Amino acid sequence: MQVPAQFEYERASSVEHALALLAKYGPESRVIAGGHSLIPMMKLRLARPEALIDVNELAELATIEAAGGELRIGALVRHAQLLASGVAGELFPILHDAERVIADPIVRNRGTIGGSLCQADPSEDLSAAFAAVRATAVIRSEEGERTVPVRDFFAGPYDTVVGPAELLVELRLPIRAGLGSAYAKVGRRAGDWAVAAAGAALALDGPDVAEAGIGLTAVGAPRFVAAEAEDFLRGGAATPDRFEKAGVIAAGHCSPAADQRGPVDYKRHLVATLTTRALHLAQARAEG
Ligand SMILES: Cc1cc2nc3c(=O)[nH]c(=O)nc-3n(C[C@H](O)[C@H](O)[C@H](O)COP(=O)(O)OP(=O)(O)OC[C@H]3O[C@@H](n4cnc5c(N)ncnc54)[C@H](O)[C@@H]3O)c2cc1C
Repeated sequence: MQVPAQFEYERASSVEHALALLAKYGPESRVIAGGHSLIPMMKLRLARPEALIDVNELAELATIEAAGGELRIGALVRHAQLLASGVAGELFPILHDAERVIADPIVRNRGTIGGSLCQADPSEDLSAAFAAVRATAVIRSEEGERTVPVRDFFAGPYDTVVGPAELLVELRLPIRAGLGSAYAKVGRRAGDWAVAAAGAALALDGPDVAEAGIGLTAVGAPRFVAAEAEDFLRGGAATPDRFEKAGVIAAGHCSPAADQRGPVDYKRHLVATLTTRALHLAQARAEG
């Protein structure tokens, strides 16, 4: 039987309380949200926190609202809640595309947006989706609040810029009129982690691409982003030829690893195909 090592447990009653508990217990404490990643790691003794700070009662972190030109998604919002959100799906259909293919209902009912990002698994679907739409992460400590572009949020695999006495509290997505977005994923079976996936966000200026965001999942793209493909698209015509070329560029600039999910060439092929597919769908949605 897998049993975690001994730990203290504290239930936070407010964000301020959570931050005070994190400060009290120090770097060996960990936040627990859905627990779908942390608990298995503790059972395997890959993580041995001395204290768990439970944030599940922090209703102020479980809201989704459009305000001030942004869509604000609290860190404690569950996958299922994001999938059910009309405003999120309308403004950023990429989020619903991604949520539909994340795990299964049991995981989606409990797993949180904050836990997803803070786990920083290279195969995490929302990391690429948030990178594509250029979201900003809001991080709090007892000293105050700071904001970090999601593209700078990841320090490496399973590592983020969130410090030991900090809490990720919110994701903010800039609302842009006429933005179209989409996410396309290939997994080995329904609900599985991605073999490869691509997210695209397109803002059009007539027939041209005014701004492009492309996020890649599970293929070793730096900061989950296909920056060279974005640069290629920006300012040019939004045509099938150029979307296909962008896919090839994205495939050439990521670094997939061969594993049980497939060889490198197959994954590069998927990146090219899925990037092109996501761009087409994003364009169709941008054009309404
Ligand atoms: C069987 C299974 C299949 C899955 N398949 C997929 C998939 O296909 N695609 C996908 O993207 N994901 C998948 N996941 C991951 C899942 O969707 C969750 O994203 C993941 O479990 C993390 O969310 P959580 O709320 O459970 O986090 P936890 O396990 O509670 O926490 C994870 C980490 O984040 C930290 N943390 C949590 N919240 C905060 C916060 N607010 N501030 C600072 N640190 C915080 C914790 O301390 C911990 O280090 C899968 C998970 C399982 C168990």
